[in-house]
Amino acid sequence: MRLPHVVVSADGSLPARDDSVVHHLVLPGFVNAHSHAFQRALRGRVETRSTAHPADDFWGWREAMYADANALSIDDVKALSAWAFLDMVRAGVVAVGEFHYLHHDVGGRPYDDALALSRAVVDAAASVGLHITLLETAYARAGFGRPATPGQARFIFQNVQVYLAHVDAALGLVGPSCSVGLAVHSVRACPRDWIEAIAAHARARALPLHIHACEQTREVDECLQEHGLTPIALLQACGALSARTTLVHATHLNDDDVALIAAAGATVCLTPSTERNLGDGLCRTGDLHRAGVPLCVGSDSHARIDIVDELRSLEDHERLRTRKRCVLTRPGQRLAEVLVPAGSTHGARALGIELGASSVAVAMPLEGHAGGDAVGLDAFFVGGSSDDVEVVRSLAGEVIFDDVDLGRLQRFVAIETAGARVLRRLQGR
Ligand SMILES: [Zn+2]
Repeated sequence: MRLPHVVVSADGSLPARDDSVVHHLVLPGFVNAHSHAFQRALRGRVETRSTAHPADDFWGWREAMYADANALSIDDVKALSAWAFLDMVRAGVVAVGEFHYLHHDVGGRPYDDALALSRAVVDAAASVGLHITLLETAYARAGFGRPATPGQARFIFQNVQVYLAHVDAALGLVGPSCSVGLAVHSVRACPRDWIEAIAAHARARALPLHIHACEQTREVDECLQEHGLTPIALLQACGALSARTTLVHATHLNDDDVALIAAAGATVCLTPSTERNLGDGLCRTGDLHRAGVPLCVGSDSHARIDIVDELRSLEDHERLRTRKRCVLTRPGQRLAEVLVPAGSTHGARALGIELGASSVAVAMPLEGHAGGDAVGLDAFFVGGSSDDVEVVRSLAGEVIFDDVDLGRLQRFVAIETAGARVLRRLQGR
């Protein structure tokens, strides 16, 4: 680092030091554990209430998402993904979990190269130096008793064996900056025998398994109707709840669900900016945290890409839900001691990776100079943002972002321009 700095440990602790002036906080690199990169194109285009469906909600947003998903070529997916991944690197992210569910051509036709879209997102991540965990996602149906809709054709695998063979083929993409995991889209989108087979495959290959779970009350109601179990209890019954499992959202849980998640050692990934943009509801974050469940975050639909904001929202949303303050910390514990692991080691655990030599340097807030490093670190999490990120180093320790490297910033313009070109076409269709 170019100027005096203080290095924050993965548990949010700070070294003792003399009182010389410090300019940077150096944190472990941030992990964005849940992303659908192409949805970067939806930002700002889904904020007008539809005259056809004035009671707008998650399900209406999903139709707009399907419309975009069915209008994208392989190159479009690559361009939009590179744009989203660039935003992430600038926000201090060193590793992303890409919940990859676009597999086929428009109409569901298989590509000659079954991994064409997987390669597109892996190449996009490599173009900005970001580590990617490609979470190949299984999707079978629209819901309980409902076949897939035409809008879902690009997502669907013919049967679970075809999906598992696809995962094994994707393992050929694994390299120093790419790993692979499995994902069940949701208990809505996959029947029980698929979930069982996918869980067994993840176990046999010792790979991470991610699942959207309990994002909507309708999903919980339909799961109870189909299986007589909550989504969490169903996952447990299918062998899909373990220390390698990450539950995304986990918004609508009962007490037994919380206990099952904790007993299994599963991770929960919240995506607060997307959850509030979609009106999903508020997770029982404090109950999960106190039960010992590791929490991590993702920017999901990319309504915003600012991991600092996702992290602070873990605490802020729980304050709104419980109408209390300082809810995730134990008495005497600082906010950063909860949020630093959530932003780094817990996300890495969810993706089955190590953070290596990664780091993110951020400007020390003024409070740090007057109130000490600990006040400065918590002030960063309360009032800071991705705008404060100065230097980002990859898992291998290479600089992938430097806010004073003009040559690098100029190269970024080409990525933004290519993404914006796709966006203009989506807007004009
Ligand atoms: Zn998602």
